[in-house]
Amino acid sequence: MNKIAEYLNTHLVGEVVTNSATRKAYATDGSVLTLTPEMVAFVRRTNDIRKIARFAWQLAEKGHVLGVTARGNGNDTTGAAIGSGIIINFPSHMNTIFEYDAKQKLVRLQPGVTVGTLQNALNLYGTGIPRLRSALSQATLGGVVANCRHALEYIDQVEVVLANGDILQTQALSKRELTKKKGEQSFEGEIYRKLDALIEDNEALISSLASEDEPLDHFGFAAIANVKQKNGSFDLTPLLAGSQGTLAVVSEMILQAEYVDQAPAIVVAAFKEEAHARDAIDALEKLELRDLTYLNGAYVEAASAFGKTYETFETMKNDSGAVGAVLIMTISDLSTHAKHKKLKKIQKVLKPFDAEIIVDEDETVSDLDAMFSLAEWQLNPDDKDTATPPLLEGFSVPLERFEEFNSALVALAKKHHVDLPLYGRPLEEVWYARPQLKLGTVGDKQKVFKLSNDLIQLVQSHAGVPFAASGEGRLHAHQSKALLDEQMVELYRQVKEVFDPLGILNPGVKQPGDVRDTVKLLRSEYVAPAATDFVARF
Ligand SMILES: Cc1cc2nc3c(=O)[nH]c(=O)nc-3n(C[C@H](O)[C@H](O)[C@H](O)COP(=O)(O)OP(=O)(O)OC[C@H]3O[C@@H](n4cnc5c(N)ncnc54)[C@H](O)[C@@H]3O)c2cc1C
Repeated sequence: MNKIAEYLNTHLVGEVVTNSATRKAYATDGSVLTLTPEMVAFVRRTNDIRKIARFAWQLAEKGHVLGVTARGNGNDTTGAAIGSGIIINFPSHMNTIFEYDAKQKLVRLQPGVTVGTLQNALNLYGTGIPRLRSALSQATLGGVVANCRHALEYIDQVEVVLANGDILQTQALSKRELTKKKGEQSFEGEIYRKLDALIEDNEALISSLASEDEPLDHFGFAAIANVKQKNGSFDLTPLLAGSQGTLAVVSEMILQAEYVDQAPAIVVAAFKEEAHARDAIDALEKLELRDLTYLNGAYVEAASAFGKTYETFETMKNDSGAVGAVLIMTISDLSTHAKHKKLKKIQKVLKPFDAEIIVDEDETVSDLDAMFSLAEWQLNPDDKDTATPPLLEGFSVPLERFEEFNSALVALAKKHHVDLPLYGRPLEEVWYARPQLKLGTVGDKQKVFKLSNDLIQLVQSHAGVPFAASGEGRLHAHQSKALLDEQMVELYRQVKEVFDPLGILNPGVKQPGDVRDTVKLLRSEYVAPAATDFVARF
């Protein structure tokens, strides 16, 4: 056995494993990349994480970097949940919901708890976390918080293990508290001192990033703009959320739940023409929908090839024999009467758009909720040589440019000889488009990078944000020079250095690199993680 693993096993309560089957199982995530770790640690206590970090820190001081990659269920689509060093696995043992304060609706839990488990537990109290509805039910909270800046909406507090093994609990510090923290002779004190100085030295540059508006930019460490407020208060949470395990490892969290309607109504509308669906979105935008999902007709076609045909879709086939697009809406309100009124309004708004509409007043007892899985059939083709790898996930394009963008996307797909059917969440202006590729062929392997580069440019030229739902990870880290100016690259490098001076935490992720190194990590066949084989929600 590997000497390091043996040493760690004697000091950890959890298990450190080096057998090839385990290492192989953790060599891939939801991305097109692969990287085999030296070992996998199934941690059981926060102290286990601290010991691993402390050990890696001491090793790095002697010149040997053992990368530490925190990992939930490995659904990450950018190669941020793989690493060549030690993988810290959370779902196996650190998956406890400790307590729920029903009065304040606060829940304290470990990072290995999945979104589905947490929502089910909260539902028992009539509460939930609305933002998490768009996350995969198999994703862990550690993964979601580390991947997504939107998590700030419901994070009350996070506890993290720092690169040297120390613990830090995030909280909003007043100006006075910050001064006190900066005076502490610890790594935590050093982080506050250095980060505050960095923010002060780069005030003008950072203010060019500051924006309260969505969509949030997840590239680099743009959240540095949200750490220090005008009144001098200081909070590290915005920087840690969305940092993809590159600044610290989340070991515990307290999240804020709220009352939610447990039986939302659901409406499915199928349109003959895609253009009608787009016009309907404009009209629906003003109504109070809980969620709105858009699926291009290609998803309906793929589903029917697997035998999933629906009468509604049959009647909505256009001259070319296909459905144009489908919209799935959920409507919630704690008052049944108000919900009913909203439903009526939606039906009225949809009337002029030549759509077949089905309505169910209670999603939980309706067969319509199965429609959320429509994307599954397109994303997992039944052909062992063909795959639908995620290239650029969760990009944002403003609704007013959507039509124009959609036409440009069709042209781009033609140029690369692929299909790029769109699905997404129009109200959040977040979109997904995956091509079907044969990754065993050199031509299609090259398309991974050519197509993602073109997609990024297309999104930008339509006033969009390429990384609106999650970060660049490992797959797109090399884009930093193309997307950022030199000063910003340097600022982000310094942010990383403040938290991780020895480069231990998730090396290669969110750090500028050479695209040729990323190309070497390309898989020759893409299989989505088992947890996402069936996309329950997206
Ligand atoms: C169809 C589809 C749609 C998706 N849509 C979205 C979307 O809209 N928004 C979005 O954000 N993601 C999206 N994803 C990606 C995926 O669902 C999320 O990344 C999810 O959060 C991953 O959870 P996980 O448990 O699998 O995390 P992992 O994939 O295991 O890890 C994700 C990242 O978090 C880090 N991490 C995990 N645990 C910790 C921890 N305890 N401390 C520090 N870092 C940690 C990892 O190092 C990695 O960088 C989508 C995926 C699919 C397949």
